[in-house]
Amino acid sequence: MTGQQPWHWDEQTWRGHVNRVRAGRSLRPASWPGGARVAVALSFDSDHETIPLRGGETRPGALAQGEYGSRAGAPRVLRLLDRFGIPASFFMPAVSALLHPEEVRDYAAAGHEVAMHGWIHESNTLLGPAEERELALRAADTLEKLSGTRPVGIRTPAWDFSDHTLAITRELGLRYDSSLMADDDPYELLADGEPTGVVEIPVEWIRDDVPYLAFDLGHVLRPYTPPRQVAAIWRDEFDAAVEEGGLFQLTMHPHVIGHRSRMAALRELVEHIDAHDGVWYATHAQVAEYVLSDQRPAPRRRST
Ligand SMILES: [Zn+2]
Repeated sequence: MTGQQPWHWDEQTWRGHVNRVRAGRSLRPASWPGGARVAVALSFDSDHETIPLRGGETRPGALAQGEYGSRAGAPRVLRLLDRFGIPASFFMPAVSALLHPEEVRDYAAAGHEVAMHGWIHESNTLLGPAEERELALRAADTLEKLSGTRPVGIRTPAWDFSDHTLAITRELGLRYDSSLMADDDPYELLADGEPTGVVEIPVEWIRDDVPYLAFDLGHVLRPYTPPRQVAAIWRDEFDAAVEEGGLFQLTMHPHVIGHRSRMAALRELVEHIDAHDGVWYATHAQVAEYVLSDQRPAPRRRST
């Protein structure tokens, strides 16, 4: 740390920051499996009690709001996915998985993906590199033990991506990350300008239920959008993804979307999607595998 203000940085410094983790080549395929027009990757971050716990909040009232996600939300989500035959990805903090091992087994038994989402929903940028690495390794081992499968992907809690996250992701041999926002469609992550072979399945707050639906009594401003209005925004995102032949990805939370009035809106959205021909439903892992396998060797750059 030089303590220099950003406007004093030389070019090497600001380029260095931007290049540490950056978007490389687009991995949007020419077409999706079976000639599908669009890939639909639904994901659910099964945070449950870890949202209050990671902030040191231990009051039963706050924990109950998270517990709802496991007790009422997740079963409802699983029923909807089952009804439409949609595979999905469940990103789960290890502590949440240890609190609800039967839920992890239900995900796996239904053919869904269980992927990494931190140890206790910690903020990576508050950790030292050794601490972040140790928690990530422990989380991977825990999920493997509970789900029966070694996770192949990670979504950092609250998408908090540190200077060390990508190196840890590579050390774990993960195929993809789903925490960054440089595109709508999958791309390859670069580390200091070098291709990593790690696929980014990009996220966005626009395609997340929390900013619209989270309710906090303590805040005067309550960002609250009627559920059907949220579904209308996501429908426009989906329709445009069809138009562009791209990926439609959503991030939801069983303790947020899993309430009755919100599941009604999600169900309407799924019905809209399902009415289309040429939809490929896939887990994030399946999307990552496909876009990597689909890539022809890049044309050699001509040096003139
Ligand atoms: Zn989360």
